[in-house]
Amino acid sequence: MRIGLDIDGLLDEQPDFFSFLSHALRAAGHFVAVLTYRDADTRTRTEGQLAGWGISYDELHFARSLADKGRLCREVKIDVYFDDQDECLVGVDEGTTVFKIRNCGNFDFAGGKWLSNAKLTRLI
Ligand SMILES: [Mg+2]
Repeated sequence: MRIGLDIDGLLDEQPDFFSFLSHALRAAGHFVAVLTYRDADTRTRTEGQLAGWGISYDELHFARSLADKGRLCREVKIDVYFDDQDECLVGVDEGTTVFKIRNCGNFDFAGGKWLSNAKLTRLI
């Protein structure tokens, strides 16, 4: 399988878990790509952070916007994608399984509700 991992709000939330997961996936023959909406000029610093967290990956890609991660998932042929932001996930094709990570930026822990907006969320 081809796995995609966001950085900010995901790898930096649980680096020990994602270090374990990324190593286990690659050891089992799976492909791991890191997809981020950081400035591409931060590649060297970003690679250093990933190394510091012990993340094992095959490729590092820089999105042009939050929504551009949908294009990257298609082009890199990601089967399973982990991210924390709805803005990054709405453009991901239905054929890609999405795991949304909960954090202080997308969840109101005191109120017990997801944080989003009408553009990204249809209430049911
Ligand atoms: Mg993120």
